[in-house]
Order: sequence, then C-alpha cells, then structure tokens
Amino acid sequence: MANFKEKDEADKLLLNPSSWDELPIGLFTFDQSGHIISYNESFISLLGLSVTEYPSFERCTSAHLNLNDATLRVLKGETVRLAGWHYGPDFQARFLRTTMSPSFQHERVAGGVGVLEDATEQRRHEERIEQLSSLDPLTELYNRKKVSDMLMTVAERPDDSPDAAVIMLDIDYFKLVNDTFGHPTGDLVLRSIAQLLRRNIRKTDVIGRWGGEEFLIVAPHSTLSDGVRLANKLRQLVNAEPFGPVPHVTCSFGVSSFGGGKSVEQVLQDADDALYAAKHYGRNRVSSKQ
Ligand code: GH3
Ligand code: MG
Ligand code: MG
Repeated sequence: MANFKEKDEADKLLLNPSSWDELPIGLFTFDQSGHIISYNESFISLLGLSVTEYPSFERCTSAHLNLNDATLRVLKGETVRLAGWHYGPDFQARFLRTTMSPSFQHERVAGGVGVLEDATEQRRHEERIEQLSSLDPLTELYNRKKVSDMLMTVAERPDDSPDAAVIMLDIDYFKLVNDTFGHPTGDLVLRSIAQLLRRNIRKTDVIGRWGGEEFLIVAPHSTLSDGVRLANKLRQLVNAEPFGPVPHVTCSFGVSSFGGGKSVEQVLQDADDALYAAKHYGRNRVSSKQ
C-alpha cells in the first residue's frame, strides 16, 4: 500500500471507495443523515443490486440484516458488527458480515464507513456441521444429544404451558432379526421404521434415535392420553408392514408426559418404566405412566 505524505490525499481516497472496485469486499461511506455517499462495486454486487444509485440504506436492508438500524447506532458513535442472511433483488441468498464505524470531524460524528463481506460459504459449512452433529447417521433422525437438548427446552417452559407427551419405543426381539437376516438387513429395518415413524407424526413433534433400536418421540401440546393414542397408531403401522425380507416386526411403547413440574429425568424414568411394563406384558403393546 502506498505511503501518503499528505493526509488529505489519503482521506480523499478513503472516502472514495469506487477507487477500490477490484476488492472482493464491499466498502461504503455515509453522511450524518444516513445517506450513502459512496460505495465500491462489490458493495452493490454483494447486496444483489444492479442499478448504481443508492441514496439510502433502505434497499440494502433485509429482515436478517438491518443496515438501516445499524446506521443510526453508528451515527451515535458506536462501532456496529452485523451478520445475517440477505436476500437480494437478484433472488440470491448471501450471508453477509458488516462492520460500520463512525467517522469524526472536529470531534463530532460526521458519518460512517462500512465494510461488507460475503461469508456465505463459511456459514453454509457451519450450518452443515451443526446439522451433522445433531443427526444420527444411520436413521437421519436426531441423535440422543439433540433430543436431550430438546427435552430440556420443554422442561424449562412456563409452568402453565400445555402438557407434552413423551413416547419411548423399542423394537421387539430385534436381536433375532439380526441373527436371522443379518446385520445389514437389521440396519435396513431400523432405517425403515425410523422413516415410518417420522412420516406419521406431526411436524411439531420431535423424534430421535435414543439408543441402538430405541426411539424417543416428544409431542408438544399433548396429554398422556394423546400420547397413548399416537403410540397405538404407530404400533399398528409397524405391526402391519413388512420391512424388506423381514415379514413381521413389532415395537413396544412406553408413554409418559411433562406436567406438574416433572423433571426430564423423571419423565424419562416414567417412560422407561412404562416401556418395561409393555415388554413384560407380552410386547407389541403400549403402556403409560403418569
Ligand atoms: P426386546 O424385545 O427385549 O427388546 O429384545 P431385543 O432382541 O430387541 O433386545 P436386545 O437388547 O437383546 O437386543 C437389541 C439388539 O439391537 C442387539 C443389537 O445388536 C441390535 N442393534 C443395536 N443397534 C443396532 C444397529 O445399529 N444396527 C443393527 N443391525 N442392530 C443393532
Ligand atoms: Mg428391543
Ligand atoms: Mg433396546
């Protein structure tokens, strides 16, 4: 970078980001009423805009990235960092990181300068990692950690919230399936049952793989008897369907519910006790414990 002897000369260049058109980051300046004074080409293309006149931030702002509000804070002397998805008029979604700082003249805020960076690839990568770390690779349902986190969220809701039912289910005699048809067929049965369960619960219900051949369903806004009804429906569906070469598979279900300030541990213990009872009384059945 050049070394400017004259500060004025340097300032002129700084306040004229169009001289930085080749840079991959967006640069812009604005005055003390929040009007854009200058910008480089990347600023326009990162925002998905095509016309070159942008007197205000209004068209540069979207629900997840509010440059307008940020500008007001900068004009009060704050340095503001923002990150969010921006949906431009070119119908492209970009994850943009912005930093804006006030510029001072005679110790008063005279406007601001901003930098806009495209972090779309990095954000997509982060989202993929987040998603993978919460999924069970075999069934593509949530894993135990993710379901546990969700149970904590349900337990922490206000006391007067509606009940939430919890269903724990376990495939009956699954060891026999593996022993008879082989482990890969056992895997196929696990995946198929996972899909069948997922297809037959509400969008707002949460399902995860709790252990080897055990699943957990959390049904918000559901009483214990709603949970029993859902469990029976799922039981009948599994019971009625062949899974590849395996003609008949059944599951046992234990149902409990949040309500009356029960802790996650208590709800899980109740569901587990109920599941144990369902196994004990002959399998392919639903038991519940309040
Ligand atoms: P019960 O009716 O009492 O539940 O009997 P079960 O045979 O289902 O129960 P058990 O706990 O004896 O056996 C569970 C079997 O599930 C043993 C284990 O090898 C199998 N299993 C656990 N995870 C997987 C998996 O990812 N793939 C396959 N194919 N089998 C699995
Ligand atoms: Mg089993
Ligand atoms: Mg088991």
